[in-house]
Amino acid sequence: MIYLDYQATTPVAPEVADAMRPWIQSHFANPHSPSRWGREAEAAVEVARKRVEKAIGFRGGNVAFTGSATEALNWALKGTAEKERERGNRGRKRIITVATEHAAVLDTCEWLAGQGMDLTVLPVEPDGRIDLDGLARELDERVLLVAVMQVNNEIGVTQPISEIARMTHEAGALMLCDAVQALGHVELCSGPDLVAVSAHKIHGPKGIGALWMRKGAEPAPLIHGGGQELGLRSGTVSPALCVGFGTAAKLADERTTRDYDHVQELWHAAQRAHGPGWTINGSTTHRYPGNLNIRHEHVDAARLIADLRDIAFSLGSACASGSGRPSHVLQALGLKYRQTRSSIRLGFGRYTTEEELVEACRRIAAAAHAQETLDA
Ligand code: PLP
Repeated sequence: MIYLDYQATTPVAPEVADAMRPWIQSHFANPHSPSRWGREAEAAVEVARKRVEKAIGFRGGNVAFTGSATEALNWALKGTAEKERERGNRGRKRIITVATEHAAVLDTCEWLAGQGMDLTVLPVEPDGRIDLDGLARELDERVLLVAVMQVNNEIGVTQPISEIARMTHEAGALMLCDAVQALGHVELCSGPDLVAVSAHKIHGPKGIGALWMRKGAEPAPLIHGGGQELGLRSGTVSPALCVGFGTAAKLADERTTRDYDHVQELWHAAQRAHGPGWTINGSTTHRYPGNLNIRHEHVDAARLIADLRDIAFSLGSACASGSGRPSHVLQALGLKYRQTRSSIRLGFGRYTTEEELVEACRRIAAAAHAQETLDA
């Protein structure tokens, strides 16, 4: 099996599994109870929180653990709208986002629009980048929140987050950044007030994410109860998951440059190996090199995936692959339906070797060629 689906999820680092084990096997205490065992668990959760905060690298805010980045994004969007409503809606009722955002942002924004918020979804240029002049035209005193991701999960394209945050603040609004595919892979761009991250994209466990919140920009709670996470997000946290996330964040922090250099070499190797006939979707310069989203005129990508069962790669996002819907990200770049169906995403990272990547690219190219010949 050659695993090339790093944007869907990453293999759990051995260091993470080792660190989690005692918290699953024997250290079962509730981190919110006052016993000595409880205190130990609480201390482990707090060490993990500090590690995630350090990997994010921003000052003047706090991390709250959530059940996923999807929850963190829902919380940031709905909780910010709710806080504004509680304050008596000072005229700021508008959310701006981008057509290539993850469903966790787009669908939540659509839901908020159904609840009476105004929504603007900005288009992108054919290379997947947003037009800053277009954003500037939309920013005014009616805008509450601007939500833009740093690294796109389907095409790897990066957005100028610090510049967007600066423009957003000038208009008196808040900025939310989905940094799920950025944390641990590239340096996070400073500026946003709210940042959503996920453990399983950085070799940590599934089922835990986090929201970094600038002091004063905390959204209203979405989940009410015991108020365990900073009084803002209720529910007993899992020490095992927190410790796993913290260990993954520490590793990512220590290895960002090393992992990036490795991925950059893999990117060049993949480019050489897949051969002619393939076009890269999205910008070739403003991108994270651990994502190669390519299309080939005559290829049926779903058939390619079915033909190569021992190579894990995808059509785009894991969600798009499952639904059979054409990717909204590729459509936003202006690709025709047929082109979206002939696009594949290869995602690689820390544990990918050049040999396996090259072998996979060659086999994908050969299978594409076979399809072409058969269909001719
Ligand atoms: N945002 C982006 C860019 C993602 O790639 C993902 C996961 O696919 C998410 C958000 C959601 O993360 P989680 O799986 O933690 O809910």
